[in-house]
Amino acid sequence: MSRTIRTFEATIPNQQQVRDDLDQLGWAASKLWNVGRYYTQEQWDETGEIPDDGELKAELKSHERYTDLHSQSSQRVLEELAEAFNGWFGKRRNGDDRARPPGYRKNGDSHPRSTVSFKAAGFKHDAQFTRVRLSKGRNLKEHRSDFILCEYQTRPDVDLTEWDIQQVRAVYKRDEWRLQFVCRTTIDPEPPGEEVAGVDLGICNFAAVSFGGKSVLYPGGALKEDEYYFTKKKAKCDDSSSREATRLDWKRTGRRTHFLHALSKAIVEECVERSVGSLVVGNLGGIRENDETGGSRNWGDHGNLDLHGWAFDRFTTLLDYKAEAEGINVELVSERDTSKSCSACGHTDDNQRVERGLYVCEECDTVANADVNGAENIRQKVLPSLATDGGDRDNGWLAQPAVHLFDRSEGVFAPREQVVNREP
Ligand SMILES: [Zn+2]
Repeated sequence: MSRTIRTFEATIPNQQQVRDDLDQLGWAASKLWNVGRYYTQEQWDETGEIPDDGELKAELKSHERYTDLHSQSSQRVLEELAEAFNGWFGKRRNGDDRARPPGYRKNGDSHPRSTVSFKAAGFKHDAQFTRVRLSKGRNLKEHRSDFILCEYQTRPDVDLTEWDIQQVRAVYKRDEWRLQFVCRTTIDPEPPGEEVAGVDLGICNFAAVSFGGKSVLYPGGALKEDEYYFTKKKAKCDDSSSREATRLDWKRTGRRTHFLHALSKAIVEECVERSVGSLVVGNLGGIRENDETGGSRNWGDHGNLDLHGWAFDRFTTLLDYKAEAEGINVELVSERDTSKSCSACGHTDDNQRVERGLYVCEECDTVANADVNGAENIRQKVLPSLATDGGDRDNGWLAQPAVHLFDRSEGVFAPREQVVNREP
């Protein structure tokens, strides 16, 4: 187990609404820095000693500038100042005469916007609506609302709900405010086991997962409903570049991303539960080809196709990222023939038509859910062959999917035969 600390940067979509408030905090942080800088100079001149952050906080906590910010934010400003002075003092002691003490924060007649840090008591994270509430100091609360409500947008593959947010920082960068989330998590890089699971992506069932002997379907209905809702809403906008239309687009993207995060998380959790070390995902290249076969993937209009192309790409990225954190390897394989072959007997029927989501094998009479059949075929593409008869695909081991068991003597998962053979 290793503790990991990472910082994720996010943009603020409602920049216009919050920038004045953030400006005030940023300027307040610079003013407090200068107050502390001045105090430190005085102490240095009088005693030849630099006050530590504890002294700075004790001396300045009743200063007017201190209460412009949340107390923890003010503390952080003074801690940074003390760190900067210590750094300079250390260099100086080591004979570096050119080292300069930290300066005042001035930009002509005005103050630059300093970074403002918010520790646990100073922020509240609202994961559902992807926003964060930042506390102001007592002085600034009098004029406006008590807090600043910032929407945020991280990179799409970042899911903050998986991290323990230690600190939020408001940073002024390239003429705009951004948020930095300093997060912590524990990552166990050992794979949960040696099982292999197959994932088939589709329209009706966004994902079908075969664990070999057990399968799970994940319908995509919620995603489709969202799509329908936002398309309708947007059609009512007069201008597709209007503020309202932009807002709808942003919201739609957020909802899609949330759905995909939730789905990938559920599948990875199921894999961890089932000792899966390898997750095989059918490559999307085949989806368009299958579009005309009239199977479960006949998704009609092009809007859907675009959505799903986008969603599948994003989903695969998220799945990969979440699986990696659990030590699970994700592999993409071609989907070729996975909807036309019987996963029980390997029989391939080019004319196979899916009726009511069922796959019926004319060779061995197996009846399977079409998506599960596809997922099992995908899964089988990377399973080691256990056949002793030369690996005849049609009559051999495909009829009996391999099962991996926990091998107590080795402490790992292994094919059932190996485990059974080892037993006395
Ligand atoms: Zn069959």
